[in-house]
Order: sequence, then structure tokens, then C-alpha cells
Amino acid sequence: MKLKIWQAGEAVLRSQSRPLTPGEIRGPEIQELIASMRDTMRDAPGVGLAAPQIGLDIQLVVIEDRPEYIQKVSPAQIEERQRRPVPFHVLINPSLTFEPSETFEFFEGCLSVAGFTAIVPRAGRVRVEYLNEAAESREVVADGWYARILQHEIDHLQGTLYIDRMQSRSFSTTDNYMRYLARQSEAKFAARPDPARS
Ligand code: ZN
Repeated sequence: MKLKIWQAGEAVLRSQSRPLTPGEIRGPEIQELIASMRDTMRDAPGVGLAAPQIGLDIQLVVIEDRPEYIQKVSPAQIEERQRRPVPFHVLINPSLTFEPSETFEFFEGCLSVAGFTAIVPRAGRVRVEYLNEAAESREVVADGWYARILQHEIDHLQGTLYIDRMQSRSFSTTDNYMRYLARQSEAKFAARPDPARS
């Protein structure tokens, strides 16, 4: 089922989300919610979705960066962003730590700040401990664009939006950003919608 994506200005997007218990995670409500969040993310389309974005203050995130999304990005962008496909997965009660790495600055968007984009500095490498949809402990060390998605989504669970971290003078409508890309002689890619929102 497709859910409504809430926009900046709603209090839930500025709230600290609560962790889920293993019993809740295995229950039918959360399992159905995970399926609906997956459908909503794919419909948007986006590469990640956090529960506060559909109005729930719980520590639940879905992520997926599909090969067909990445095909829409220029080879130069894929290379500099270190963007690789990420299969669909669920992160519950995640805890993020920064690993030694460079900071990378790229334009980023958010499904809850629809129509805008800005440059956001992010760590190049992070470690995340979490529970999966079966309430089993998991850990991932991620780098590149996947590390950026993880930082963006886990920020949502603490009521933080990318606009809190952006270089504010880079803030732009998505349309103007596409025109900027076109001027960078990437017109054939800029003509397509950028799915790198989450
Ligand atoms: Zn977002």
C-alpha cells in the first residue's frame, strides 16, 4: 500500500523516534508497515524512507538503490559519488558511528523537502548496527553514496533534516539544479528525474 509522504513543517519530522521491541518487529503491524514503506519508496521513487516521513515516530528505515536508478546518472557522477546498487533492506533501531574517512560534498534531496536540493557534507564511511525485519542483530560498514543514504535516513529518526546540515547558499529548486547540470554538459542525464532522494 502506498502511504502519504509528510512534508517539512510536520512535528513528527522534528521528533526523536522511539525504538521498537523485538515483539513489535515480528508482529503483523510492523511487517505490513515495512511492505507499505517499500511500496511508497519505490513509487516516489526514492533510495530510502524513514518512518517519520510517513508520520510515525518509530526507528524504522527502508533503503534500496536499484540498478535502474543508477543507469540514469552519468558515469562521471557514479564514479565521484561511489554509487553502487544497494538491495532492499530494513534497518530498525540503528546506531551509527563514523569511520575514519574524507568528507564528501554532493547535492542531496529529501522526499519530505519536495522540489529542493542542496550540497550536504557527509562522512565517506560509516558503521551501522541495527536489527533487521526478523529482529536479528546486523552490522554494516558502508562507504560512498550508501554511507550518505544511511546518514540521511538515520538523521530522520532524530528529527534532523538535510537542511540542518546543508551549505545553505547551495539550496536550490530541483528544476534549477537540473538546469545547472545541463550547463555542465550533462544535458542528456539532466533531462531525467533524479531518483537520489530519500
Ligand atoms: Zn529524507
